[in-house]
Amino acid sequence: GRFLAVAGLRKSYGTGVVTPVLRGTDLELERHRIGVILGPSGSGKSTLMNIVGGIDRADGGTVEVDGERLSDFTDDQLLEYRRTRVGFVFQFYNLVPNLTAGENVEVVSNISEKPLQTDDVLAAVGLADKKDRFPCELSGGEQQRVAIARAIVKSPRLLLCDEPTGALDVETSLGVLALLQRVNAEFGTTILMITHNSAIADMTHSVFRMRDGQVEDVTHHDQPVPAE
Ligand code: ADP
Ligand code: ADP
Repeated sequence: GRFLAVAGLRKSYGTGVVTPVLRGTDLELERHRIGVILGPSGSGKSTLMNIVGGIDRADGGTVEVDGERLSDFTDDQLLEYRRTRVGFVFQFYNLVPNLTAGENVEVVSNISEKPLQTDDVLAAVGLADKKDRFPCELSGGEQQRVAIARAIVKSPRLLLCDEPTGALDVETSLGVLALLQRVNAEFGTTILMITHNSAIADMTHSVFRMRDGQVEDVTHHDQPVPAE
């Protein structure tokens, strides 16, 4: 089966007057692929991503990741899933400011079951020589590379990226995309990302367009365009 299978997913917020945010969302992504979710603000992209990442729970429908159904998990199992099997990358990096690049990666490595070597991961993102720099001493592109290193050091099967290039200029964004393509190719990590940048779509295997809480269009590319 599919590595990621989302079927009929439903989620509403609020009590009394509830607002449906996901209205029967379907999405399937194969193992070792890069998928991207495009869609207007408020269409439910982050809500879907948070449920797939085990940060939030759905009201109905199913999410299966690598053969496991998230709704079957207890709260403890969901916490374990999100800690050990999913890497997260966000728009604003979320690095710990008073830790160096190396230490930001190390703290995650220390709580992981089978971490990669911190030095190997920093080398993979091209920051071997900046290990001892603090986040404020790094450019935006470099801070996002540290965030990607931190997300992949626990060797997650799934990497979820919410607007990973949203705070970066075009050139730096392409560098981050190239890095995600390399992570996908070298580590076999399945990647699902949200972006507003439709130019990135051709650089992925599967493009999911969301509107009003549903995936309304899917496109596949056998050969994603290299970002660099
Ligand atoms: P997108 O990522 O596509 O911009 P979101 O999933 O962030 O969309 O949000 C979809 C809708 O759900 C928005 O109208 C938003 O205001 C609402 N929403 C998201 N999270 C919450 C929450 N925790 N409580 C209430 N409403 C929320
Ligand atoms: P990128 O294209 O990767 O975003 P920049 O062109 O912004 O990089 O930065 C080039 C170099 O300047 C980098 O090696 C980075 O370490 C350094 N640099 C950028 N911002 C700062 C800063 N605020 N303090 C110290 N060094 C910085």
